[in-house]
Parts: sequence; C-alpha cells; structure tokens
Amino acid sequence: MNGKDQKNNFSYNLISWHKNNGRHNLPWQLKINPYKVWVSEIMLQQTQVKIVLPYYEKFIKKYPSIKELSNSPLDDVLKLWVGLGYYRRAVNLHKSSQIIKKQYKYNFPKIYDEIIKLPGIGKSTAGAIMSLAYKKKYPILDGNVKRVIKRYFAVIGNENLEKNLWCLSESLLPNKNNDIYTQSIMDLGSLVCTKTNPDCKICPVQKNCKSYKLNLTNKIPEKLAPKRKKEIKLYLLLIQNSLNSNLILMKKNSSTGIWPNLWNLPNFSSKSIYMNFLKTNKISNKIVIYQNFTHNLTHIIMNVSVIKTKSINNITIDKYYWKNIYDNIASSKPVKSVIIKLTEELS
Ligand code: SF4
Repeated sequence: MNGKDQKNNFSYNLISWHKNNGRHNLPWQLKINPYKVWVSEIMLQQTQVKIVLPYYEKFIKKYPSIKELSNSPLDDVLKLWVGLGYYRRAVNLHKSSQIIKKQYKYNFPKIYDEIIKLPGIGKSTAGAIMSLAYKKKYPILDGNVKRVIKRYFAVIGNENLEKNLWCLSESLLPNKNNDIYTQSIMDLGSLVCTKTNPDCKICPVQKNCKSYKLNLTNKIPEKLAPKRKKEIKLYLLLIQNSLNSNLILMKKNSSTGIWPNLWNLPNFSSKSIYMNFLKTNKISNKIVIYQNFTHNLTHIIMNVSVIKTKSINNITIDKYYWKNIYDNIASSKPVKSVIIKLTEELS
C-alpha cells in the first residue's frame, strides 16, 4: 500500500468505524449550527466532554443564539462559567459575540480567515468549526488528534513538531464527509486511542498504525518530565459590613490574570500587606483565621488563608463594593466556596 492509499484508508476506516462506535448524540451534534459548534469547541478546550455537558446545556438554554449572548452583560456569562475554569474563554466568547453582532449582523462568519480573527479562536478551533458546521475540508489538531497522529505515524522528537503534525493532519483528510471524519478522529482519541492503555484491539486503524506495529504505543507520545507547580500564598479578606452582615467587600479583577473580570475578595500576598490595607482603610483590626485551604490550578498551587473581620462602619474604598452574599456573584470557585460557607453559617 503506498502512502496515499494508506492515508485514504485511514479516513475511510475511521468514518466507517464512527457509524456504530462514535458519538452521535452530544447536544451540539443535534441540529448543528455554527454557533453551537463554536460554543462547544471553546468549552471543550482543555476540558473533557463529561465535564462540559451540564455547562453547555445551561449556557445554550440561557443564550440560544449569538443575539442573546452578545446582548448579555459579561458578568452573567461569567456566572454560568463558574467551576469550568479558564475564564478567559468566557470573556473571549462574549467579546467575539459582540464583534459578530456588529460586523456580521449576528450571523456567524463562514470564512476561515474571518473566523480565526475572533478572540479565543486558534487554528484548530477554526478548523473544527469549518469542518463540523460547514462540512469543509479543514484539519484540526486538538490534544486527542495530536495523540492519534503521533501514534499512528510514530512521531518522535520535537523538531518542527507542530508544523509536521499540521501537515500530517491535513494529509489524512478525506475528500468528502469531512464533518464525520473530524468527529471520528476526535472520538477515536477520546474513546480508543486514550492517553494511557490505548485499546488497540478494537482500533479501526490498527493495521497501519506504526506505533502498534513497533510496540511503541506506551512510549508515544513521549512523556514530558512533569513541570513543578509554583506554590504561592494568598490571603483573602472576608470583610463583613458591621451594619449588615450579609454584605461583604469585593473588588472586580482586571481583565488580565488568573480569574479575569470575576469578583474577588480583597486579596494579598503577605500578612504585612493585608494588615496595612486594614489599617489604611480604618477597617477593624480584630481578625480571625476563618479558613485555610489549598487550591490547585494547572500551573500553580495556591495556599489560601481566609481572614475574617468586620468593618467598623460602612466604609467606601475606591473600586471596592459591598456585595450581598445571597446574590449570584460571578466569582472564582474558591471565592464562591468561601461565600457559600458564610451563607450557610448565617442562615
Ligand atoms: Fe492508537 Fe492503538 Fe489505534 Fe494505533 S492502533 S491509533 S495506538 S489505538
């Protein structure tokens, strides 16, 4: 079999396999439209399908089209994202929806070069939208697809890796049924050619898989030495209003950083800095350690201490607001957990 036949064979076998073994009933696969494909692809970046499902359902219920999304305040979009992580995705979805509203009159663009210019959309996401929503011949290269291609061609080494993988991904594309092919290679990566213990016995492309033939399936992809996570200390101040204990002092994060645009408790990297904040703003210095916990992010371990105190009066501090803990506040998961604990104590 020559190289061309082998590649054609790859897509043909995958598409046939997908008919009975792939996923057909994911909510974004039913009554496909570019908006739904876009939202699902953004949610699926670095997140597994089973985690995305309930968030996707809630999101589409509230924002069934670009119109509702673009006309909603960002805060409401972020509220739906709490717990899903990588909040910049929500900020970019919202920003893109406003661009689509203005430049394309609420119609999702149909041209690759226009799609890829939208915030938060890279080459792979744009390719997935072109393929899944518009049935066009475009390659994708998400984490699952990378793994399948690396194993199938036994790709080792890092030189020009990204460029080579894109070429290989493109070379495998069939001339028709591109939407089914894209879904099937994603499904193969997630259901069969899994990170650990790929199920080669049932794999539709096993016959020509180089890693399988060379017994390298557990060596490819090559394992990178795990990066050591940076540990940081974070102090969160839980400052209740002395006139109304349902009110706590909060500030909105900037649009950059870990939790962009989310409401946060006053936060500091050291005890001396938060003591200085309390003193400068004439907030009571009667403090108690309310909670200690660890919060893990992909690259950081946060050792969080929550310090509770009460303001001596209804103070005002620039950029800080009194927020009612019983309101649905768009905040990060750890801050939300502190607020929930307080509401439970007060009720
Ligand atoms: Fe992956 Fe195994 Fe299939 Fe090769 S044969 S593509 S390693 S599941």
